[in-house]
Amino acid sequence: MNERISSTAACTQLVKRSLENFRIPYLTVTPTFSICPVHGYLSGEHEFCPKCDDALIQRKLKGKNHAEIH
Ligand SMILES: [Zn+2]
Repeated sequence: MNERISSTAACTQLVKRSLENFRIPYLTVTPTFSICPVHGYLSGEHEFCPKCDDALIQRKLKGKNHAEIH
């Protein structure tokens, strides 16, 4: 998570520096984002939706507790 944020910051820095140093007329930066069929737009690149992951983990934990009770 932190790695993603810092790499985004590094990217922004790189773009800024490129514009300052090379005077490129314009620079297109494709914003990385993911779409989850359940949660919709997610900022950043996600192989798996973190919200769905959380839900899955919660379900697994509940399932485990349930199994332990019986
Ligand atoms: Zn999701």
